[in-house]
Amino acid sequence: MTEPGIGSDLAAMSTSARREGDHYVVNGTKTFITNGINADLVIVAAKTRVGGPQRDHRGISLLVVERGMDGFERGRNLEKIGQHGQDTAELSFSAVRVPVENLLGEEGEGFRYLVSNLPQERLSIAAAAVAAAEAALGWTLDYARERQAFGQPIGSFQSSRFTLAELRGETDIARVYVDRCAQALNVGELTPEDAAIAKWWCTELQGRVVDRCLQLFGGYGYMLEYPIARAYADARVTRIYGGTNEIMKEIVGRSLGL
Ligand SMILES: Cc1cc2nc3c(=O)[nH]c(=O)nc-3n(C[C@H](O)[C@H](O)[C@H](O)COP(=O)(O)OP(=O)(O)OC[C@H]3O[C@@H](n4cnc5c(N)ncnc54)[C@H](O)[C@@H]3O)c2cc1C
Repeated sequence: MTEPGIGSDLAAMSTSARREGDHYVVNGTKTFITNGINADLVIVAAKTRVGGPQRDHRGISLLVVERGMDGFERGRNLEKIGQHGQDTAELSFSAVRVPVENLLGEEGEGFRYLVSNLPQERLSIAAAAVAAAEAALGWTLDYARERQAFGQPIGSFQSSRFTLAELRGETDIARVYVDRCAQALNVGELTPEDAAIAKWWCTELQGRVVDRCLQLFGGYGYMLEYPIARAYADARVTRIYGGTNEIMKEIVGRSLGL
């Protein structure tokens, strides 16, 4: 989906797929594509209504582009501040001829397909955020029991106990909400706004939890050999990808009729 010039405003994408006989001819550039380097097959959102309005939901279609198709190139693996185990790539399409049978679903319905699948993606980001927060809390509890200062475990200072108690409560509450959304997803009733709430609230919680946990590790928390330091760097992007948290609040706000 994402291009160098557009991310949140998907309808304004400029990658085009012009029909020529049994093929679409795809031109454009995508960026920040997760697994873009490793993938053998990518699903590309492109405008099949060429020459239509600039912001045109109904002009978007989904095309399956395969490794080895002429004109399909990958750029470098982008350097990120965290999530180093995952590749993130720029992809370019220069007159790539894609057979019409590689169209996913119906022409012009791509935006609808994306919108109907994004709640599930957002819930998965929320679930991963709660898991990351729980993991951070677990490492920190262990550390707070072992590390001594002023002749006592740092976890026994009231300020540390209160911090850890608050984080325990907040992560538990987040898990309950995510579980409720997962149940709704299973019966096909997860709404875009509930998924958006889960995504923004849980990823902001993740950021708060890893930051406060890192503080309890003192200087060691800043060292990359400690998982908490890597968790801190990994957490930042969850408020951005899958739709930024500002866009999540837009979705919720619109659902309130505002
Ligand atoms: C590591 C990583 C992996 C990613 N993986 C993928 C992937 O696999 N596939 C894919 O398609 N994309 C992927 N993305 C892209 C990601 O979804 C976008 O970066 C994100 O949607 C934001 O788009 P943008 O970067 O263009 O920011 P912009 O849309 O330019 O937004 C910039 C700022 O303006 C704010 N803003 C924009 N519009 C509004 C508005 N209406 N109201 C209020 N604030 C607004 C945003 O919230 C943000 O703070 C990935 C990104 C990263 C960093």
